[in-house]
Amino acid sequence: MRIFSFKKEAEMKNNDRTKGKEKTLVKECVDQLKDGKLPPWKVEEELEKKFNLIPPDNFRTAALSRQKFIEEGTGKKFRYIGLPDKPYKVRNQCDMHKFVWELDASDENQSCSLCGNQLKSLGQYDPLVANYVGGTEDYYSFAGRIRVSGDLEKEFTNLLVYGTGLGPMGITKGCFLINKFGGAEVKVAEFARAARCLGFVFKTEELRKKAIHIIDEFLPELKPEMNAQMSDVGGRVGPAEYVQVESHQGFLLYVDFTADFENFRGHGGISRAVGFAKREIEKRLQKGKVKPELCVIAQGYDGDLKPSPRNKRGRYASAQIRVPVHKFEELLKINAREFISFVDLDRTGAQKLGCPFYSGMGGEIIPALYRATKVNPRSCLVSSFQNIYARVDGEDLIYGVELPNVEVGVLSTHEGLIPPVGREALDIIGIQTARDFAACMAAQVLAGEFNLALEIVRERLYDS
Ligand SMILES: [Zn+2]
Repeated sequence: MRIFSFKKEAEMKNNDRTKGKEKTLVKECVDQLKDGKLPPWKVEEELEKKFNLIPPDNFRTAALSRQKFIEEGTGKKFRYIGLPDKPYKVRNQCDMHKFVWELDASDENQSCSLCGNQLKSLGQYDPLVANYVGGTEDYYSFAGRIRVSGDLEKEFTNLLVYGTGLGPMGITKGCFLINKFGGAEVKVAEFARAARCLGFVFKTEELRKKAIHIIDEFLPELKPEMNAQMSDVGGRVGPAEYVQVESHQGFLLYVDFTADFENFRGHGGISRAVGFAKREIEKRLQKGKVKPELCVIAQGYDGDLKPSPRNKRGRYASAQIRVPVHKFEELLKINAREFISFVDLDRTGAQKLGCPFYSGMGGEIIPALYRATKVNPRSCLVSSFQNIYARVDGEDLIYGVELPNVEVGVLSTHEGLIPPVGREALDIIGIQTARDFAACMAAQVLAGEFNLALEIVRERLYDS
């Protein structure tokens, strides 16, 4: 018993010493990060080279340094995005398959899932993800800070659950350059939209014509009642769109309803309102002796996660930089004309592929922000569409991205529970409203695309 307590005491003293040393190292790194002398993705390397803290011991200190750096910059604390004792991955090998497994050091399942053999550690370690700052189920990366102006004046501290790859580093670099050029100019729509559609099949064109007439006359009375159905999310229904199609089933009619929402996603709201409208319209048609063969919610025409330029979900957001051409060329050592040609080449390539939108880095950055913040929708397919553009305007070069359909509810409500880690990420990033979310997303996509485009034009990408 006595021996045990001695041992424990010694251990505790040892721990205190380690903690003390860690504190000193973290402070040193944070100071360097603040000076801008140390890029965030080089903290592990700095600890190893300058302070002889070798892998795997440097990984936790590096993550902690980035956390503290973010905490000091934002005044917010990491609480739910936890930092485990061993935040790194270990390379293991299966003797039978000679296959290298990379496992989270906390993973106690040490068997090869192909053959069941016990894996052997190769004693090689790496960070869990680039710019790792915390998280055990999802690995959070720091992706720089970006200033935005225009429709919103803010600075965002970017956190992404990006996964493998150098994306977070590229975005950090892009943010740094964009801030140097005065920040990103953003445009964000006041309202987000959500759509639901009613579909009818009529036997004759005459019946369809009569139905349109009845519905049209009923709308002024119906709309306030539809709005009442969406009062909890502040939805307001706009003009209805009629689309007529002939099919071998008969004469089709789509009546598409779109509503505006300020801070909610509104998807459930518009569904409820159109469900209500369906019952009321059916009563009216019956009264007018207009009987459809079929009256349903026509999901095929309501923009439900469909990659189409006519999709009516979400909110428009864009971000761009405007830089004098001479400054651009001087600072980046890139010919502006070549840069614009590249953007055009890239965008045309996407069109030739039959893509209704361009999707580059945005296709990774956008889902990474949804994963980090844990907001709804969980499937951010429609929100991942983007366009890019570059042109010379007078003396300036303009480069920008557009996100036509950013759909989000940033409030944890009946529209979707946001777990504590997600709310913490939103808070640290600096996102309070759905408009903030869209602006932050557009600015990060701009940073990622801009940095990538520069690397490609400089022929640095995939250059082995
Ligand atoms: Zn095996």
